[in-house]
Amino acid sequence: MSTIRPSLRWKWFSAVAAVIVALLFAINLCLDLSLPSFLVAKARVELERNARLVSELVQRTPATELNAVVHEWGSHVGLRLTIIAGDGTVIAESDKPIEQLATIENHLYRPEVQSALQNGVGSNQRRSDTVGVDLLYVAVRESPERIVRVALPLHDVAATIQHIRGSIASASAIVGLIALPLIFWLAQCTSMPIDEMRRMATRVAAGDFTGRAPEREPGEVGELAGALNQMSKQLESRLQELTSEKAHLAGILAGMAEGVLVVDATGKIRLFNTALRHAFQLTDAAISKTVLEAFRHAGLAELIGAAPAGRELTFLQATDRVFTVEAGKLIGDVGVVVVFHDITRLKQLENVRKDFVANVSHELRTPLAVIKGYVETLLDEEPPTAETAKQFLGTIQRHTLRLEVLIDDLLSISALESQQALLDYTTVSIHVTAAAVVEELRSRAREKNITLALEIPADLPVVDADVQRLHQVFLNLIDNAIKYTPAGSRIQISATTDNNFLKVCVADNGPGIAVEHLARIFERFYRVDKARSRELGGTGLGLAIVKHIIQAHGGKVWAESELEKGSRFYFTLPID
Ligand code: ADP
Repeated sequence: MSTIRPSLRWKWFSAVAAVIVALLFAINLCLDLSLPSFLVAKARVELERNARLVSELVQRTPATELNAVVHEWGSHVGLRLTIIAGDGTVIAESDKPIEQLATIENHLYRPEVQSALQNGVGSNQRRSDTVGVDLLYVAVRESPERIVRVALPLHDVAATIQHIRGSIASASAIVGLIALPLIFWLAQCTSMPIDEMRRMATRVAAGDFTGRAPEREPGEVGELAGALNQMSKQLESRLQELTSEKAHLAGILAGMAEGVLVVDATGKIRLFNTALRHAFQLTDAAISKTVLEAFRHAGLAELIGAAPAGRELTFLQATDRVFTVEAGKLIGDVGVVVVFHDITRLKQLENVRKDFVANVSHELRTPLAVIKGYVETLLDEEPPTAETAKQFLGTIQRHTLRLEVLIDDLLSISALESQQALLDYTTVSIHVTAAAVVEELRSRAREKNITLALEIPADLPVVDADVQRLHQVFLNLIDNAIKYTPAGSRIQISATTDNNFLKVCVADNGPGIAVEHLARIFERFYRVDKARSRELGGTGLGLAIVKHIIQAHGGKVWAESELEKGSRFYFTLPID
């Protein structure tokens, strides 16, 4: 900045100063070139006039007195006077006494003498052999026998020139001294508003619109400042509009559940929103990459190329999710905007629903097929014996019961899943609920010689829970333990407090569950051994119901197991 600021001022100053200096120099040069010749020419005219005057006087002077008179006049007028005879002999000389006249060289061939003899007047400029200085000679023919010559030492002319030069130099210096500060001040005045405008424009470029250009200046500068101020105001309001529009847009994009991607006309990623960033773990490094580089999905790149278009795409590598992807062209064909709608959950639900229907149908079909078979046999033409018929009816009853249990379980799970089942909260003692279930199942356990050990301390804190549902949880877990453990096993029901939760455990020393099944046994209809479960009257829904009930109470459920050593089923319930 500091290097630019003086620049304009100095440019103005140096330009005008250079013009003035050049002007003064030109004046000096012209005078230098013309003054000497002008002064010499003027001196020549003067000398000729003097020579003619001397001629007049010479005519009236007797020859004997001539040298004395010439000597006197010469000293009066400050000129060298020489009277030369027609043959070139010097007959009088102002700078020499009479006795030395004979020693003076013949002047006949002096250029000025020759010219005077021929034309009446002649002049020459040279160093004198007689007096040894530079002289300007002018000779006039007074008569055919006499030439009068006047000489002026040239140092007189040189002194005059020197004097004039000195005066001009002084005048130039005075002009310079007055003009230069004046120019400097003028340059400053001219450059100041421009400099102010430049500073204002720089601030505007940096986004600061508080500066104002000086409109007070008259003429074009003031008008320019006005236009600049107007431009700055408009720019500011446009920028504000743009900024708020951008914030609006950014807000909309950020708030959208759908992923949004903008690709420019060259296929490079220009923008993506937060939803897409999270869904695909994108980083800012993806900006300016191609879609193929960032997503590694040929189908997506193809879809964008075919915009406007839409398709369902599965992104196995990046997210293992399914999206409906819509690609539309941006106005002006400057790129493509792509909207990703995550339908993974919908797809999963659809699959779950399909599986569920298939499972339910399958579970219902088996007992129904049995019932149908036995009913047909009973209705046969040849009726079975009363004993066989009773046996058949017993089987039909067993399968009808199985159907009943299955439908009860299905209704429970459907109510729990659709969250229609409102829990009837009361204060519940885990000890009391578990004891009731143990009593209920004691005879069944005894049949298999299984020990049921209820080890829940009676003084555990109570919980807020739906007692019926909690009863069902204990029933399902203890019933499973009785079902899947061999005769003579031991089932232990215990509970502790864990932070703000009650942690309940139903443990057995049965066959245990392999790790690969452990994570899945809480899914609907998932059984380790389907045939065994059915044979034991299981529906495959018991643990799914347990999971739903516990989760509805705000607790967690999980299982730990080691093959051949037994299983431990845990659940937690929040204490108030
Ligand atoms: P089911 O009606 O088949 O018992 P559940 O949902 O109650 O259905 O149990 C799912 C599966 O978990 C069972 O089929 C069984 O293979 C396994 N399982 C449950 N409890 C135990 C246990 N205590 N010991 C071993 N396996 C068990």
